[in-house]
Amino acid sequence: MATGRLSNVFGSVGTKDVAVDLGTANTVVYVAGHGIVLMEPSVVAMNTDTGRPIALGVEAKRMMGRTPANINVIRPLANGVITDFDACEKMLRYFIEKAVGGGRGRKMSRPRMVICIPSGISGVEHRAVRDAAEYAGAREVVIIEEPMAAAIGAGLPVHDPTGNMILDIGGGTSEVAVISLGGIVASHSAKVGGDEMDNSIVAYAKKEYGLALGLRTAEEIKIRLGSACRLEEEFEAEIRGRDLDSGLPKTIVTTTEEIREALSEPVSTIIDTVKLTLDQTPPELAGDLMDRGITIVGGGSQLTGLDHRLSVETGMPVRTVPNPMHAVVIGSGHYLEAHESVRSLYAAHKAG
Ligand code: ADP
Ligand code: MG
Repeated sequence: MATGRLSNVFGSVGTKDVAVDLGTANTVVYVAGHGIVLMEPSVVAMNTDTGRPIALGVEAKRMMGRTPANINVIRPLANGVITDFDACEKMLRYFIEKAVGGGRGRKMSRPRMVICIPSGISGVEHRAVRDAAEYAGAREVVIIEEPMAAAIGAGLPVHDPTGNMILDIGGGTSEVAVISLGGIVASHSAKVGGDEMDNSIVAYAKKEYGLALGLRTAEEIKIRLGSACRLEEEFEAEIRGRDLDSGLPKTIVTTTEEIREALSEPVSTIIDTVKLTLDQTPPELAGDLMDRGITIVGGGSQLTGLDHRLSVETGMPVRTVPNPMHAVVIGSGHYLEAHESVRSLYAAHKAG
């Protein structure tokens, strides 16, 4: 994933400037000139006695729902905003050190950083992300909007005078934007994404089967059995949880139809958000979209049949990309690499 043209842009060899996609579900780090070097769940396991993290990322996610009283597994972001600043900053610092070296004993050279956040967030939340990045060791920070990064990463011609629509379904949010001439013309952000789908499966199992499920299990069910439209071959599968009455472990048999029903509300909300954005798109650009279609990225866009369902409901072609969970960080990375220095970029950003 290296671009191979980087050393010239920054001039100095060994610069380790980074682009970070700080997602509610996963954090992805791209090192300029190298490409993606890290992708881990945005999860921190805290020791509540000491207030110190005992595990981060993949390791912490494995502990979810399985901890004793003195360990608290935290997701520092929810619905695209920072809900636990301290944990967020520690997590970011850990990932960045892991990505660019430094760490214990050695002093990390402070990287310049392009960081990507959901477009719907407020000024205060902007500040929180910037602070977290600075506390985490960044020398300079530029924040860019997620839909723009996603569109660049998906290879859309964002600077052309034609409309392009991008939909990014993450853990906590779904973001839709129409981009033309390098800017966002219309956009919406819904606080619904993969997490809400997991919650819906938990609620469904409880209501229909009196079965308590953990969120990790619900996520696995979503990925294995979930869908957004009828499947050529529907199938059954066993799911395991705890019986709400007896408190004992219990196995039930469910079907892909049932899981689709469980997911219907969050899926509809996402599709409605797309329709709402289409409704607010100027006519010329709406015409472009008919030809160019909707490009979908983000982990949630991989839900089986979502592309088809979206196409049927909007009457537009829907395009997927090879690595939908990488699009945002690739776009941010290209943005980073395209500018001589983050400083000039930062100045332009402030002036603009
Ligand atoms: P974020 O940008 O918020 O960190 P991601 O783009 O990394 O989110 O996507 C994470 C979400 O995608 C999670 O909710 C995860 O369960 C979901 N996801 C990953 N793979 C699939 C799949 N094959 N089908 C449906 N959902 C998926
Ligand atoms: Mg994302």
